[in-house]
Amino acid sequence: MAADSLIPLPKSVNVSLKAPLNIGELPAQKVRRSKRRPYVFNLMVAGDSGLGKSTFINTLFNAPLRENPGAKHLASVQTVDIQPTTYELFEENVTLHLTVVDTPGFGDTLNRDADFNPIAQYIDAQYDKYLKAERSDEKRGNILDSRIHALLYFLPPTGNGLRDLDIEFLSRFCTKVNIIPVIGKGDGLSPEESAMYKKAILKDLARNDIRTYPTHHAEDRDHLAKFEKFIPFSVVGSDDYIVKNGVKVRARVYRWGAVEVENEQHCDFVHLREMLIRTNMQDLIDTTHLVHYSLYRSGKMGGESSSNGRPASVLACDDDMYDNQMQNAKKVAMDEMKMKEEQMRQNFISRVRDKEAELRAREEALNAKRKQMMDEIDAMRRQLEM
Ligand code: GDP
Repeated sequence: MAADSLIPLPKSVNVSLKAPLNIGELPAQKVRRSKRRPYVFNLMVAGDSGLGKSTFINTLFNAPLRENPGAKHLASVQTVDIQPTTYELFEENVTLHLTVVDTPGFGDTLNRDADFNPIAQYIDAQYDKYLKAERSDEKRGNILDSRIHALLYFLPPTGNGLRDLDIEFLSRFCTKVNIIPVIGKGDGLSPEESAMYKKAILKDLARNDIRTYPTHHAEDRDHLAKFEKFIPFSVVGSDDYIVKNGVKVRARVYRWGAVEVENEQHCDFVHLREMLIRTNMQDLIDTTHLVHYSLYRSGKMGGESSSNGRPASVLACDDDMYDNQMQNAKKVAMDEMKMKEEQMRQNFISRVRDKEAELRAREEALNAKRKQMMDEIDAMRRQLEM
């Protein structure tokens, strides 16, 4: 039996407050506090060179983050480079420390190990860093989180379903990080070709039991219904603009016309951006902690991480067992969080109760003093009358 289960949970008592304490301000305080501390989001991009990854990052964050597209990797280098860069973005009093990890050189050789190992090593190294910080009793909020929260995997606009390389990559990494497959250079496909390609990709993902985000992970499913029909997102990136109805819009210009990045008739860019930034960024961070990192940590505790990305403790199990392990890891982490929340709530209630008792004692002391003064005044009045 775990030692924790021997500790009795604190008794919960409902208290009806006599006067408002402004507990309702707590969420606002939380928002103010969280705004003071920068948010951290770490995004990795992988996929063949030239699929528009750097251009896409610039388009996604609407800033020239990645410069020199195309000139990032020395052709002579026989392995993938890992290039993390951190940017500080600031909007409406919120600071976002965004780290983009580029992986130039991917798919340039026919060597899978040279493509996959540097990426796996980088991801594991960040989990290790986090684990060390946790073991040194650092509070979660103070740990510098460099773990990859989302991995955008770019598929070429071939229209032919997943290649062996894609299947191997996605299978290996889908249990390690939140992986989101996207079709790069989506303007290379007609709407019909794009629809067929998506169908073929979804079929291949299901056939190979590849668990991608958000289909297999996101908790927050309310938001997802509207995105699901666009998955896998087909995206177009551009560093250029055109003027349409007097407004500057990002677009790729061709002799026959322009493909507008933010036009949902032209590609799924806006839906992917909405999911990544507006609705699911926090869920990606939470899923990384509760699912992928928990799995890594439990794998570390039960032995070293295996070479295929699954922790050793879940290496030998089938997919149902793997799902169970994931659910268990998530449940343990959720229970831990709930317990901490409950402890904080109880502390708060007991502080409120102490304060109430203190106020009551003060009120009684004042009443006694007042009574004593009244008695003295009465006695004086009686003496004067006499
Ligand atoms: P990366 O190597 O995957 O990072 O690709 P880059 O972003 O460097 O882009 C390679 C080339 O593709 C550049 O010439 C870009 O202008 C072009 N490109 C980027 N995004 C798109 C796109 O969505 N559609 C098309 N047709 N070209 C693109």
